[in-house]
Amino acid sequence: MPKCLKYSGGIANYEARTYPGMKRKIIVAGNWKMNVSYDEALRLTGAFGKEVSSSNNMEVVVCPPAPYIPSIVQQFEMGNQNISVGGQNCHHEQKGAYTGEVSASMLASSGAKYVIIGHSERRAQFNERNELLNKKIGTALEAGLHVIYCVGETLEERRADHTLQVIKTQVTEGIANLTSQDLEKVVIAYEPVWAIGTGETASPAQAQEVHAYIRALIATYTSAEVAAFLSILYGGSMKPANARELIAQQDVDGGLVGGASLDEHQFIAIVRSAQSFL
Ligand code: PEP
Repeated sequence: MPKCLKYSGGIANYEARTYPGMKRKIIVAGNWKMNVSYDEALRLTGAFGKEVSSSNNMEVVVCPPAPYIPSIVQQFEMGNQNISVGGQNCHHEQKGAYTGEVSASMLASSGAKYVIIGHSERRAQFNERNELLNKKIGTALEAGLHVIYCVGETLEERRADHTLQVIKTQVTEGIANLTSQDLEKVVIAYEPVWAIGTGETASPAQAQEVHAYIRALIATYTSAEVAAFLSILYGGSMKPANARELIAQQDVDGGLVGGASLDEHQFIAIVRSAQSFL
């Protein structure tokens, strides 16, 4: 397992998930990637809908492939199930001659509330850089979406002790020029690339260290209040067996879940772990 960093900063006097009497939202979001058939998608969301729902301080989000979004939104609405739906990516332009692409407003008008931006698979396989991701975030916010912005270091970067520098660059360039009001609709997901889909998870201490660093960064670039309200999710092989310990960390406000969100029993168990902190 990659070694722990030595970041001892952070914002010492934040109380766990509270700021003058208010709680930070816990979010559990499932990222299905390019998996499951349409029928299986509806079966899965039917199973989630019976067992879990969002509440005042906690939100459950499902991010299926884009073509399934309207049907899943309708399924949740018809069942009165309070689960949000998100896209996995959007184009940085609002519209135009971009064959095969999906715009932020298409996602929003299909019923999506969220969009994931900057997933490491998009960064690595589609060469998406922070500057482009910053544009995507702006376009998504303009379309009325909430954003789950992913950041995370590779194994080589961690081994070279570059983790915090990489995170700093991804966070500050990704959110450049956003206002405090914009940031109310942004969630950051810390997803160490070496932990995604590998079965290897960051230890709770490793996750907490980077999450605290991200919160401190946000406080520096915006304000302590904005930082205190920002939900920061952990992603990378989160499972029922490790979810509770990870979410118990002071600056870990839920999870972005890949593989385990494709199994209703595992996803429901992770949501239940998160609910135990409400
Ligand atoms: C992800 O892809 O966002 C992710 C966290 O995947 P997994 O849970 O499978 O590691």
